[in-house]
Amino acid sequence: MSTGKINVQTENIFPIIKKFLYSDNEIFLRELVSNAVDATQKLKALASMGEAKGDLGDTKIEVEVDKKAKTIVIKDKGIGMTKEEIEKYITQIAFSGAEEFVNKYKDKVDKNVVIGHFGLGFYSAFMVAKKVEIFSLSYKDGAKAVRWECDGSPEYTIEEISNRTQRGTNIVLHIADDCEEYLESFKIEELLTKYCKFLPVEIKFGTRKTTPPSGETEGAEVDNIINNPNPAWTKKPADLTDEDYKNFYRELYHMQFDEPLFHIHLNVDYPFNLTGILYFPRLSNKLEMPKDRIQLYSNQVFVTDNVENIVPDFLTLLRGVIDSPDIPLNVSRSYLQADGNVKKISAHITKKVADKLEELFKKEREDFEKKWDDIKIFVQYGIISDEKFNEKAMKFALLKNTDNKFFTFEEFENHVKATQTDKDKKLVYLYATNKEEQHAYIDAAKNRGYEVLLMDTMLDPHYINHLESKLKDVSFVRVDADTVDNLIKKDDNTISKLSEEQQKQLQPVIENVINKEQFTVKFENLSEKDAPMIITRPEFMRRMKDMQAMGGNAGFYGSMPDMYNLIVNTNHPLISKILAETNSDKQSNLAKQTADLALLSQGLLKGESLTSFIKRSVEMI
Ligand code: ADP
Repeated sequence: MSTGKINVQTENIFPIIKKFLYSDNEIFLRELVSNAVDATQKLKALASMGEAKGDLGDTKIEVEVDKKAKTIVIKDKGIGMTKEEIEKYITQIAFSGAEEFVNKYKDKVDKNVVIGHFGLGFYSAFMVAKKVEIFSLSYKDGAKAVRWECDGSPEYTIEEISNRTQRGTNIVLHIADDCEEYLESFKIEELLTKYCKFLPVEIKFGTRKTTPPSGETEGAEVDNIINNPNPAWTKKPADLTDEDYKNFYRELYHMQFDEPLFHIHLNVDYPFNLTGILYFPRLSNKLEMPKDRIQLYSNQVFVTDNVENIVPDFLTLLRGVIDSPDIPLNVSRSYLQADGNVKKISAHITKKVADKLEELFKKEREDFEKKWDDIKIFVQYGIISDEKFNEKAMKFALLKNTDNKFFTFEEFENHVKATQTDKDKKLVYLYATNKEEQHAYIDAAKNRGYEVLLMDTMLDPHYINHLESKLKDVSFVRVDADTVDNLIKKDDNTISKLSEEQQKQLQPVIENVINKEQFTVKFENLSEKDAPMIITRPEFMRRMKDMQAMGGNAGFYGSMPDMYNLIVNTNHPLISKILAETNSDKQSNLAKQTADLALLSQGLLKGESLTSFIKRSVEMI
């Protein structure tokens, strides 16, 4: 037996590192199991080159928890280590990595550091263990088994042992008193499932009973294998069916019924390595952070499900996995944003997603239209927030009218150019946000030969603003922003039946029957067939209100009360009748009744006003 001193200057690096990494100490298991996987893979590689002889036998990794002995053991049947190798790889390299780590981070508290980078994977054992033992037997001919032990101080012991015949390594963690939660089996199983679910070597954690076949009371006892060593994203797309992709989606998120709309299989090997499968989930109309997020892996080792900064924001609405050994996982998030590889990866994923959507649009337009409602929020978010995506998406993004008919931007422009160009040569795109509430306006616009788009998502107000700034000479106007004649201002040539004098006479009569603070009376020369009075809400005012409702800063206008226009149709016979009425009570009643009808059609007549309207109507009938 020999003792040695770990090759570091800083005597007290252990407590420092322990403190730094404490917030994330559960990753010790990931690091140690990853080492076990590496050791197994290395052995397989050597065997395939003929350098490791004989049958490799079972290469399962096993994790065991012994609550009484207060130990966790990670066993592999990989290449193992000789005494020299332990001294070199574990004590020198790992611990010099520890020193570098301390030097670099002693003044900074950056909890996002992943220690693997410093060759400290093994060292993470000390975050939860007060003592660590290694038992190992190298695959090499004539190798002697060794036992290494270290209690977290820079001293360690190492000795040759005779009672180990199994090739490979056991790492024994003697769990520290303040980490005893890790002695609970369910906790370890949870961590294994979180970090090791797709590691490429089978990992056994205890046994489990299978469901008993009918007629028998007990199922068979089988190994409890934690992982799927061959997840779908590591396979070739040609070898996978649609059903395989769906099954993998369920495997990822434990979802029984939820099906993705479609998937994208990513596979890049230059200028960076990246594989993965992204799924488009059915998004509800709401823009909420999904709980099932994209998972990031590095060579099948789970790293995080917070892919912020690695994929553009709008893509975080997707699900699936990305696996790349080229994403620097060991540095802080702010650094990630500036990293060249990460930028390229992000751009690549954006492009792939846009290409996939374009392909679906071109090849299966009907299906694409069917799925549009489920993906539109995602596409809109991308268009608003990502210049590159915007460029591509304007080719396949759809506009839907109130009759569920779809147009691309180009199609729509051609479709309405003749009818919806105003006198200043601007295209006016009419839209509705609620088919029921705005029914009368939609109807009027359609009768006029206009096309009305349905813009009813939470993101639409932003989307409209964005489109107006991007599309040349296009403005969006909600159908109830004005009377149908004025929605799209053409040359004005309808003449009024009322003279200006008569309008002035009528104005106070009408103002007396409505709330003057809220409604501005305006006279317009509409057609006889239009309603006698119409309520409108100017587009500008409504947008300010919408912005305020969404928590935006609309300043002065946002804090104003709801303002409407009460448009009086000078050409409607009823208006002439009101004017001609000599009995002032009757005149006022008629005006009130007409104004109430306009309010009613907008859903603005409520409470007491509604009750007295009904009473008045009955009396009149
Ligand atoms: P890293 O894995 O980042 O290189 P570690 O501290 O985790 O750093 O491990 C240092 C080295 O120790 C590894 O590169 C490997 O050579 C060796 N090693 C660690 N665990 C094992 C194991 N279970 N079997 C064989 N070798 C191992």
